[in-house]
Amino acid sequence: MSTVAKVIVDVPTMQTDRPFDYLIPSVLAGEIRPGMRVWVQFGSGKRQVSGMVVGLAEAPAFDGELKPILAVLDPEPVMDQERLDLAHWLAQTTYAFWITCIQTMLPTMLKVDTVRYVTAGPAASDATAALLAGRDQLELTPDLDPATMAQILTLLAHEGLTLHYQSKDRAKVKTVDHVVPLLTPEAYAELQTTVRANAAKQQLLLTSLANWATTKQTPSVKTIETTVGLTRSQLTAAAGKGWLRLEPREVYRNPYPQYTGEKLTTPLPLTTDQQAVVSQINDATGAKRAETFLLEGVTGSGKTEVYLQAIAKALAMGRTALMLVPEIALTPQMVQRVKGRFGNAVAVLHSGLSDGEKFDEWRRIARGEAAVVVGARSAAFAPLTNIGLFIIDEEHESSYKQDDAPRYHTRDVIRHRAALHHAPVVLGSATPSLESRARAEKGVYTLLRLPNRINHQALPTVSLIDMREAYQNGAQGDFSKELLTALQLRLDRHEQSVLLLNRRGYSSFVMCRECGYVVQCPNCDISLTLHMDTHTLKCHYCGHEEAIPHVCPNCGSNKIRYYGTGTQKVESALHELLPAARVLRMDVDTTRKKGGHEKILRAFGNHEADILLGTQMIAKGLDYPDVTLVGVINADTSLGLPDFRASERTFQLLTQVSGRAGRADKPGEVIVQSFNPDHYAIRYAQKQDYEGFFRQEMAIRHRGDYPPYFFTVKVTVSHQDEQQAAKAIYSLANELKQALSDQALVLGPTPGAIARLKNRYYYQIVIKYKNEPQLGPTLARILDETQQSTRRGFQIGIDREPVNFI
Ligand code: ADP
Ligand code: ZN
Ligand code: ZN
Repeated sequence: MSTVAKVIVDVPTMQTDRPFDYLIPSVLAGEIRPGMRVWVQFGSGKRQVSGMVVGLAEAPAFDGELKPILAVLDPEPVMDQERLDLAHWLAQTTYAFWITCIQTMLPTMLKVDTVRYVTAGPAASDATAALLAGRDQLELTPDLDPATMAQILTLLAHEGLTLHYQSKDRAKVKTVDHVVPLLTPEAYAELQTTVRANAAKQQLLLTSLANWATTKQTPSVKTIETTVGLTRSQLTAAAGKGWLRLEPREVYRNPYPQYTGEKLTTPLPLTTDQQAVVSQINDATGAKRAETFLLEGVTGSGKTEVYLQAIAKALAMGRTALMLVPEIALTPQMVQRVKGRFGNAVAVLHSGLSDGEKFDEWRRIARGEAAVVVGARSAAFAPLTNIGLFIIDEEHESSYKQDDAPRYHTRDVIRHRAALHHAPVVLGSATPSLESRARAEKGVYTLLRLPNRINHQALPTVSLIDMREAYQNGAQGDFSKELLTALQLRLDRHEQSVLLLNRRGYSSFVMCRECGYVVQCPNCDISLTLHMDTHTLKCHYCGHEEAIPHVCPNCGSNKIRYYGTGTQKVESALHELLPAARVLRMDVDTTRKKGGHEKILRAFGNHEADILLGTQMIAKGLDYPDVTLVGVINADTSLGLPDFRASERTFQLLTQVSGRAGRADKPGEVIVQSFNPDHYAIRYAQKQDYEGFFRQEMAIRHRGDYPPYFFTVKVTVSHQDEQQAAKAIYSLANELKQALSDQALVLGPTPGAIARLKNRYYYQIVIKYKNEPQLGPTLARILDETQQSTRRGFQIGIDREPVNFI
């Protein structure tokens, strides 16, 4: 019998980042399992904290007195062994605290401020009554003595009690009332003879009750109201007579009520290309092979149908499937299609749900009631078991990387889980990340391609408008004559248009309006970032700094300035230029409220507007048959991003948004306005030529020693005192330079773009390397040393393969 529990305590510091031994009180012997949260005393004082049991031991590792576990917070484990291991692995690979990783994997409702209480269960006994002592419910507080807790655990195991959760400030578990017949069918028949024959409702109720008692049914009040025609007040009155009992039962909140009850869709007959792809994936699923596929399919090539039929295969084997999408709010159509095919077997997890909804979905998954999970990044940790297939849609999206600790990439988490589950992974995109495409080139991933649209529908024609000349040709404001004419044509034909205002890298860089020149770092080939506070341009990689130029170094024009235009400004310009057009605007301001995205998208789908104007959030996953024009107002801003991925991001954005046009029988047209129409990223996007872009971009990355040829790590230090932060980062840079080989490049230190954030000063270093066995240990040591000094106010962040260099 285990007497010791190994506990990770909720004290996120380096010194406490390991399991501590606690004594299991004898009354709780056999009840405590890994994956349960417990309440313990920590340190020398009286401080009490929560912790996660990660293991058990027969005896303590050392002699000495162990502190006992004070209370058990979870009557059943909230993490299984797979996810406990996953948390440990995550902590090690992302340099995050173990407890932080554990908390990342649990829903908010399982935070300590959640109230847990028990009520009498279906198999309530004398012991239940003794425990509740006349109360309806008993709250499980950390100060419950272990003996009482042990009793509660035993009763829960035998359904003598039912467990409930309620967050302190939010709604508790939702219930609906059910009718439970209390008498025998014979007794009801007997009663019928005593009730007047013309009391029709009473007779009906008694007949129904007799029927339910015979068939052991307990229908909900709502069902009875609609199907039998009895009212709640009649049922309540009958409860008063002791004929029945109204029992509140827990129901799950359904975040997508509009999709349930619909008839399920049937699989489409696959095209030859789709068939080839599906059979390769299903082969791996069938053979339980943890193979990673990169599915490169142009927009509209039918990737979603491939996912659906691959999921069906996993389900047919009795396994489950986990599908990740970049941001669900932006892809309601994807959720609709998965729910439409698999109905209630689907659980949806994302940040747009209320905590209660999230918790309900999470429990449905943990209890094995959902076989398909669709979710955004954090759903990578969904408590699914027996997973037979993993899918990451739009795998190139930067939202798959988490910026805060733990700084993980969803792809790594998924591939790690896939290996454990012996299941394949499908990474899908029309514009795969260079890293993934390069891995496919090397044979690490299996490349699958869907080079054509369904029914060989043509990709839309893309015209480039050179904005450097547009003003001589009748452009008005941000609109070229060509774009205005095309918009007018759609209005005349009652077709729809999508307008993209690219706000990536918005007004953070300086560009010449005459020649399109963007000021770049002489050392790094990366755009310099505008710092308004110091009126300088800075390189975020190497720290190079120069004054903001007054004339363009390229053409001598004085029209060099920072670039920027807002959606609101464009919207009012549209009203003036095209007064007849009905415009829907989608940006951070109009989508702040819950469900805001969906509302706008639904309105557009219902033809309540002619033009959908938005930021990059409109580029994803929309499939509207009547959209025949996509206009890009400014293709350039993302080229100015101070990031070696600027070209890749621009290519992806333009290709994705172009894919929104002409998806049904009407041909599509795309108009891209640019000050840099000769830039290769824009040229390849015009041809929708991913492979061409890939080759050229790889050559450029090779020349600059950038990923995927080199790996990168970003180390950030912050302190409230600027001097202290600067001093720390320079000594850290020295330490790294000494520890690493001369093949590694240590860039910086540089101040963060937002030099001061929440009263802290940030400095960073970027390390580029190929093969550095010393890097891992050195970073771990640095982390360790810095943690010793957290009391002096330092914070350090280590980010492997950062997607954000600002
Ligand atoms: P992608 O995800 O690659 O952009 P979609 O999955 O949205 O492409 O497919 C584009 C359109 O083609 C959708 O309207 C979809 O219903 C339709 N489609 C997909 N596969 C088939 C098929 N085998 N037969 C007929 N239509 C299909
Ligand atoms: Zn110029
Ligand atoms: Zn530089």
